Order: sequence, then structure tokens, then C-alpha cells
Amino acid sequence: MAMTLRDASAEALTLAETDVPAAAARFREHLAQLPTPEARDPQALALLDALDTIGLVQQGQFPAALQRAVPALAQLEVSPWADRLEWLYTSLAFALGMLGDTERGLAWVTRALRLTQARPHSECRRRALSTQGTLLAMLEQWEPARETLAQSLALAQANGHVRGEVVARCNLANVSVHEAWGLDPEDPRRVQLGRQALAQATPSRAQAESHGLVGLAGLAANVEGFGHLLSGDAEAAVESFRCAMPWTADNPSLHAETQLGWAVLHRLAGDWDVARAALARAEWLAREAHLPQVRGWTFDEGMRLESAAGRHDEALAWARRGIQHWKEQLSRRVDAVSQSASLFEELEHSRREAAALRQQAMALKDAALQDPLTGALNRRGLATALATSAWRDPAQPAVAVLIDADHFKAVNDTHGHAVGDAVLVRLVRLMQGLARQGDLVVRWGGEEFLLLLPHTELAGGLAVAERLRHAVGRDDWQRLAAGLAVTASLGLAAWGPGEALDDVLARADVALYRAKQGGRNRTEAG
Ligand code: GH3
Ligand code: MG
Ligand code: MG
Repeated sequence: MAMTLRDASAEALTLAETDVPAAAARFREHLAQLPTPEARDPQALALLDALDTIGLVQQGQFPAALQRAVPALAQLEVSPWADRLEWLYTSLAFALGMLGDTERGLAWVTRALRLTQARPHSECRRRALSTQGTLLAMLEQWEPARETLAQSLALAQANGHVRGEVVARCNLANVSVHEAWGLDPEDPRRVQLGRQALAQATPSRAQAESHGLVGLAGLAANVEGFGHLLSGDAEAAVESFRCAMPWTADNPSLHAETQLGWAVLHRLAGDWDVARAALARAEWLAREAHLPQVRGWTFDEGMRLESAAGRHDEALAWARRGIQHWKEQLSRRVDAVSQSASLFEELEHSRREAAALRQQAMALKDAALQDPLTGALNRRGLATALATSAWRDPAQPAVAVLIDADHFKAVNDTHGHAVGDAVLVRLVRLMQGLARQGDLVVRWGGEEFLLLLPHTELAGGLAVAERLRHAVGRDDWQRLAAGLAVTASLGLAAWGPGEALDDVLARADVALYRAKQGGRNRTEAG
């Protein structure tokens, strides 16, 4: 028996928190088994597209990932899964960062973090924090990057998530290495940052090794090597990069960094030929694997290497290639940013359309429940509010206040029906101005209104009623018509636990009658 779409999507979303590719595969299988209308549900297809996007991000196909994810998002944001999309937001943020649209990436990861607020210890929150830290580091906001990555480290530790812990430590170490790399070669802070990097990289490498996580051990050994280089310990750096060589051999992007580290090391040792060979490999790998940043570093290193070796023409040639490379990168980045900007503009457009539709639907619904003149609830609106919301804790006291405009017939007769209407609207505004969250303002009849105050004792209700009466009496009615003055009479009754509203209103009505009999512009409690 095939799962329903609802169950299949719930399962996919839960699985997506930890393993998106598996979630995509399962969901695809389930969709294939569903009857046609459900399997063609646009929101279900959008969910499948979004899950597939993650695979593209993991393969580094960032533009393709965005092309696919953004239209899917437009559907998903109005779907029942709208608040379970943190995995998608995080991946989008990462892809945007890798394409150079870091600011937009940060905006998306912030949304992901907002969605995970209710699950502060979840794996998806850890991933979002980790991505946020990486993006902040790209913007060279070193301290905020460290703080965020430290949070993701703490979460990984609390959850016993070894891979997450190793990655968080490597990312933290990388922040220090990158910060140091931008400093002047003589700056003493380089050594300090190198040590900071080691403080994370070394335990992380040990942890990866002891768990047999070879790829991660390579990642850690790389950053450890750079930490040793920065703190001036060439011997230790040799050991790190030597270990990293086989561990990173299968991963071009990591291996390019290992070779680059090897080149730096041998430049410092004056071993020019070994350095040149390693640098050539690093550059080739970076080109083949489309790693513009690493490739840029190899050009910088080539220039340093040949200057140190005294081959100034070669140094100049590296520098020229470097400048050309960064220029190309910059224009690519500009293209990528403008491309993602237009994609997101479309998303914004469909979002606005969806919001307009929702608003229309709500307006239609409201029209049936509201008095069209004043916007107060009508009787049906009152019944709906009482039935649908947890409006009132039935064990708590409440108060009903009936409000009736005094001599309203005379207002109409003297100033015209239009002024009468305007008075009714103004009366409702005064009531709404006094109402707290949860109070209900109802047009009960022609010029008679009902104010329901939950969680209120009779004395409190009396105070509200008197405030309202004074507000009506003091209002500047002359604005509506010269010589106009309006007062109201009020009758209120306590609404005890278990009592029927009709009985309460009957008592409020008696009180109102007494207020009228007593001379109007008065409040009476029944
Ligand atoms: P009292 O102080 O005893 O309440 O006197 P009143 O004149 O306010 O009471 P009465 O019930 O005699 O008259 C109510 C008037 O309210 C009559 C009716 O025309 C007017 N009215 C009811 N609904 C509307 C409305 O929507 N707009 C306007 N302008 N007048 C309305
Ligand atoms: Mg009246
Ligand atoms: Mg009346």
C-alpha cells in the first residue's frame, strides 16, 4: 500500500534534517507509487526539486542549483511545509556564498536559523550555524565567524556528532589561517593566529584519525600544516602536509591545498624546484576542479616563490596571471550576483502575488464576519471568534459591556445619516483604541455595541467601561459636524464560568436600561 502524499512528504522532511540525498531518493520512490493527481501535485514536485537541489550544491553546481531551487521555493513558501525548509535555506545560502553573493547568502541562512529556533539542539541548526560562520569568514568578519562556528562546535559536541565537531574545528582553524594570510608577513599576530589555528586543527585531526574519517583527517592535516607554517614550525608543517598527501589524494579541492602548502614550505626552505613542482600541481588541480579561490592563491604563491628565488621575470609573469585571474573572477562574480538578483526578483514577485491572493481570501472571509460600516465584528463574527479561538480560559472571569449611543435618532435627524454613520465608525475606533489583545468589539445592533473582555473581573470591566464613556464624551465631535456632541450609556455584567452568553447579555441589557433611565451618559453594572 503506497503512502499518502502527506505521509511521504512528512517523512522526506524529517529525513532531510539529517540526510537530504536519502530524503530525495525516498520521496521520488513514494511519488512514483502515488496516483497521478497527487503525484503531479505542484507543491510535491517543488519539494522534489528542492531536495534535488541539495545534490547539485554538494557537487558544486551552484548556478544550476539556484536555477532549480528558486522557482521551487515560490511554491514551497505557500505550502504546508513552509516552516520546515531550513535545510533548503541553508544550502541556498551556501551556494550563494560560493557564487560570491555572500550578503544574500547571509540573509537566507538567517531565515534558516529563525526556522530552527524552536529546535535549538537540532542537526539542521548546527548546519545552518556552520554555514553562517563560513559566510561570515568569506566577508572577513573574523570575530562573528568565530562566535558562530564555536556555537556549531558546541552543538556538535552536545549531540555527539563527530563529523560535525571535526568540521567545526577545521572551519575555526581556517578562519585563523585566512585572517593571518591577509596580514603583512612581518606582523607578529600571524604567529598568534597560527597557534590559534593549531589549537583547533590538531585535536580535530586526532579525532578524525581515531574515528577513521580519512577525508576529514586530510582536511584537518591541511589546516594544521598552515597553522605550523604561520607559527614558524617548518618541521611540524612537513609532518602535517606529508600525512595529508595520501588522505587528500582523492579530493582535488583538498589536495590542491596540500600541494600549495607543500610549495610554501619548500619556498621557505629555499628548495625552489620542489616548490615549483608542487605549485604546478596545485595550480593544475585548482583549474581542473574549478576552484577559483585556491587557484588565485597559487598565483600569489608563484609570485612569492619566484621573487624569493630571484627570478623576477617569472615573478612578474605569475603576478600578471594573478591579476588577470582576479579580474575574471570579479566579473564572473558580478555576473553571478546579477543573475541571482534577477532570480530572486522573480521569487519576490511570486511571493507578492501569493500574499495578495491570501489577503483577498482573508478579506472575503472577513467580509462575512465583519460589519462593513465600522469593521467591528458582526454577530456571526462574534460566534466564529468565540468558537474558533482559545478566546477565553473558561475558568477565568470575563465581562460583557453593552454600549448604546444616546439620542442617536436625534443625531441623524439634526446632522444627517452620513454624520450618523461617521459617529458609529468613530465610536468603534474609540472602543478598539481601548481594547487589549483578545478583547472583542462587536456591532450588536444599529447603534448598539458589545465589548467582551476576557480574563477580567467586574471591577476591571467597570473601569474599562468608564474610560470608554469618558473617551466618548470628551471626543472632538465637532470635527464631524458643527455643534455635534455624543455620549453613550453602558451596561455591564460579569460572565461567570459555565454561564451562557445570552444570560449574561440579558443582565447587561437590564443594566443598560437602568443607565438610560438614570439620565444617560452613565455606566451601570448588573
Ligand atoms: P436612546 O438614547 O434611548 O438610545 O435613544 P436613540 O435615539 O439612540 O435610540 P433609538 O433606538 O430610538 O434610535 C436608534 C437610531 O439609530 C435609529 C436609527 O435610525 C439609527 N441607526 C441605526 N443604525 C444606523 C446606521 O447604521 N446609521 C445611522 N446613521 N443611523 C443608524
Ligand atoms: Mg441609542
Ligand atoms: Mg439602541
